Amino acid sequence: MLALQGDFREHLSVFAELGADAIAVRRPGDLERVSGLVIPGGESSVMDKLSRLFGLAQPLKDAVASGLPVFGTCAGLIMLSNTVRDAIDGQQTIGGFDVTVRRNAFGSQLDSFETDLDVPALGEPSVHAVFIRAPVVEKVADEVTVLSALDDGRIVAIEQGNLLGTSFHPEITGETRFHEYFLEKVRARS
Ligand code: GLN
Repeated sequence: MLALQGDFREHLSVFAELGADAIAVRRPGDLERVSGLVIPGGESSVMDKLSRLFGLAQPLKDAVASGLPVFGTCAGLIMLSNTVRDAIDGQQTIGGFDVTVRRNAFGSQLDSFETDLDVPALGEPSVHAVFIRAPVVEKVADEVTVLSALDDGRIVAIEQGNLLGTSFHPEITGETRFHEYFLEKVRARS
């Protein structure tokens, strides 16, 4: 669990509920102890700065490249995207997802909203999704699987190899199926 900034505590409690052993990752040495990583929601530009400051940016890139399962929610999805629109000046990402995301894609009119999403990979019922200054995925390469989109077609959940990403926050609604889906990826690899 990357714990530089953002709502990592909520993710830790979902993993506790699921009986999974989760730790807060703040230093490169912590990263060596995990078999999967969640990058939480928060503020991607701050997370980027802190990860570089703490010497975690390159180890995180190496971990993604080596196939470590990584799940990013909201700002975490931005951190995992190769290209970011409406980033702040000089903002960098870890990358991995062969996609273009747009930060704060819903504008100030619709800063935050909630909706129910069909996520066929998770089955019934639909997922209650909370969007908070959320990104959308605007371009995806062929290797990327779209797990869910809004009614207007905007992509909000994706998977590519070892990576899983959502524009919204499954960790704050009592929803555990994304975390379970992610744990299956972790178990399948280890
Ligand atoms: N707007 C934030 C960013 O750019 C993401 C918001 C969130 O994680 N809830 O990083």
